[in-house]
Amino acid sequence: MTTELSGIGVTPRAGVGGVVWYRGATDLPDPPDPTTVDPEEELATFEAAQATAHEELERERERATDRVGEDEAEIFDAHRAFVDDPEIVGGIEAAIENGLPAPHAIQRAFTDPIARFENLEGSMSERADDLRDVRDRLLRIVTDGDRMDLGDLPDGSILVAERLTPSDTAQLDPDVLSGFATIFGGRTSHAAIFARSLGIPAVVGVGDELAQVGDGRELLVDGENGVVVIDPDEGAKRRIADAETPVIDDHVSTADGEEIEVAANVGTLAELDVAAEQGADGIGLFRTEFLFLDRDAPPDEDEQYEVYTEALATFPDERCVVRTLDIGGDKPIPYLDAPDEANPFLGERGIRRSLGPDSDLFETQLRALLRAAADDSAGTLAVMFPLVASVEELDAALARVETVAEELDEEGESFDVPELGVMIETPGSVFMAESLAERVDFLSIGTNDLTQYVMAASRENERVSDLHDPRYPAVLRAIRRTVSAGHEGDAWVGMCGEMAGDPDLTELLVGLGLDELSMSAITVPDVKANVGDIDTETARERARRVLDAETREEVAELL
Ligand code: PEP
Ligand code: MG
Repeated sequence: MTTELSGIGVTPRAGVGGVVWYRGATDLPDPPDPTTVDPEEELATFEAAQATAHEELERERERATDRVGEDEAEIFDAHRAFVDDPEIVGGIEAAIENGLPAPHAIQRAFTDPIARFENLEGSMSERADDLRDVRDRLLRIVTDGDRMDLGDLPDGSILVAERLTPSDTAQLDPDVLSGFATIFGGRTSHAAIFARSLGIPAVVGVGDELAQVGDGRELLVDGENGVVVIDPDEGAKRRIADAETPVIDDHVSTADGEEIEVAANVGTLAELDVAAEQGADGIGLFRTEFLFLDRDAPPDEDEQYEVYTEALATFPDERCVVRTLDIGGDKPIPYLDAPDEANPFLGERGIRRSLGPDSDLFETQLRALLRAAADDSAGTLAVMFPLVASVEELDAALARVETVAEELDEEGESFDVPELGVMIETPGSVFMAESLAERVDFLSIGTNDLTQYVMAASRENERVSDLHDPRYPAVLRAIRRTVSAGHEGDAWVGMCGEMAGDPDLTELLVGLGLDELSMSAITVPDVKANVGDIDTETARERARRVLDAETREEVAELL
């Protein structure tokens, strides 16, 4: 029987295939032949995991004491006691001596104690959860580096997971995968954005019911309508047979002749090709943090120079807007020592890190960018700074560009200072947009973060996903304010948040006065097709009415 579950559609595409679960650490493969297991080695692995678990728990205890108090933090002492519990440790050692590898031994030794606690009355039964927690911690530590290879999934499969991180998603191969669905996650989480850039059909935030879908079941993922269909019938499969909009390679203008640049957002070199295939007018946002993910050390100046040069060569007649490193928030990079912050989205992220702890990386990146800008035969380079909240930050970033230019000059390197811009993603930058615009060539509105900060609703949290909607009047007025301020300061104004790629909003965005829209490559054809039907005067008049609306419902009716 066909069952339909709803979630949040992130890619306007659909796919169907057999389910492959991306499991947590507890789902182990069958144990190997006992004669191939070296008990001494496995014992050492377990003992090292015990030590790591103690270190982690000690750190977590300290953090919990600061945040929630001594009493609550005592739970970590209980967990530490379980790590050394003689019955459990004895069970693990015995299982290893009998030829099981450490992960399987850990899993087996916890089974009986967990079952015993589960059978107790009242609050004692909750101890079973603590035991599971400790087991999963040990399993995670011993299986690290031994996880499923997401880059090597069976052809045509649908990946199903509790959640995916940006680096998980970065490993997915769009040529192989038919789609993915997750229990948790929001529309503008970076995992979702990456899926969209790669054109992978995806639905996130489906909820616990997704857990009932076992490996191998057939699943249809409809990212356009935000539904997944378990065991879809032939009718459902036929309905998703693609009706794709034809690609338009030329620049497009409104019916009355106003050109609107329709560019693509990319994060990797592979996505540059997708952008070119979809007819993008250059790159409106190159998220460089993806160059820093999934590795042990940052890329050096020459490696970055090669990447930026290749991006410019892919679009020799267009502009390529590269954003300097924007980490923190939901994009931690393990080797960069992220601070332990209670609220990372309000913490050290974006330009704050580039002007603070990552200032060396910032300089290296600027050197690579200024050198890449010197190539006259390639496209035009533009560079922008993320998460600026004050004029001081922009001034400091611009001063760094000047210093780097002086250094390159002294060294006799060939370089050029590219067009410079600032992302408008914070209320602070909206209110200071005039002053920011006077200092740069362009502003680019990042509606994913701007909506999050204007509405005080995390882009990651499906419980408030209804509030994280750029169609709220407060967000629309912030956008209008930014466009007017930008134009007053002689800067062009673009938008590179996910809002720009919503074909239902193209007329509104043109009416609000945006000069450029940048989006996931696969939505470029739809948006380009819309631009040609728009009359600018009508769009402006309609936008004025939308800006008068006081509620999202009124906005929705007007749209
Ligand atoms: C944004 O915040 O809208 C944006 C484009 O940046 P990112 O999604 O990478 O944070
Ligand atoms: Mg952002």
